[in-house]
Amino acid sequence: MHPAIPHLIELQRVDHQIATLRAELETFPKRIREADAKLSGARAELAAAKETHTQGATERKKLEFDVQQWKDRARKYRDQSGAVKTNESFKALQHEIANAEAEVAKAEDRQLEVMMAGEELDRRVKLAESRLKEAEQAVAAERKEIQAQGAEKKKQLDAVLAERERIIGPVPEDLRELYVRIARRHNGTAMAEARDGQCRGCGMRVLPHILQELRTETNEELYRCESCGLILYTLEPIPVATPAGGSASAASGASTNS
Ligand SMILES: [Zn+2]
Repeated sequence: MHPAIPHLIELQRVDHQIATLRAELETFPKRIREADAKLSGARAELAAAKETHTQGATERKKLEFDVQQWKDRARKYRDQSGAVKTNESFKALQHEIANAEAEVAKAEDRQLEVMMAGEELDRRVKLAESRLKEAEQAVAAERKEIQAQGAEKKKQLDAVLAERERIIGPVPEDLRELYVRIARRHNGTAMAEARDGQCRGCGMRVLPHILQELRTETNEELYRCESCGLILYTLEPIPVATPAGGSASAASGASTNS
């Protein structure tokens, strides 16, 4: 086993932790945005309630104006009726007066309806306002919670980054570069355990003599999987039932590793 292997295994462990923490940290801005988005419903509801309220007020003003106009008209006809000469003109004016009064009554009825509806609209606006306020408080609390979680994750990440510095210390420069190069190509993973005669990175068979070399303390070679290129290591004892046998004395036979 190459003497740097234990360090590289540790390095791989913290690098996976770092990747996980970074991925988690990246979700935080989105989580904040999602929390904020919860307000848009309550805001839209309040805006709609206010809009309807404004329309109601506008209609009320118009109806006031209508009532006044029809009343003025009725009064004008009544004033005229004292001065008419013919019966027919009098009748015509009476008809106009009745018509204007009917319009007054109609507008007043509608005024009453709008006023009653207005009370309901007031209530709706107030309700929407209190709902928005509640939502704002809930979202503020949620934001605070998310930010606290984010700060905690950041702290964990800083700790693991410091740990990484410590772990990588004894690893020679050329091995660091190799490790980084392989990891970059394999989604952050540079190391593969050889277990049960297989590379756990890709599942391909690892030759028995390489497995044996991996467990030999005196061996300082670095072995990579021929199939996926990951750096191999093993944690398992060498199976004793090898038919070839005769590996009691060390002295490795012609290692064909380049
Ligand atoms: Zn492999």
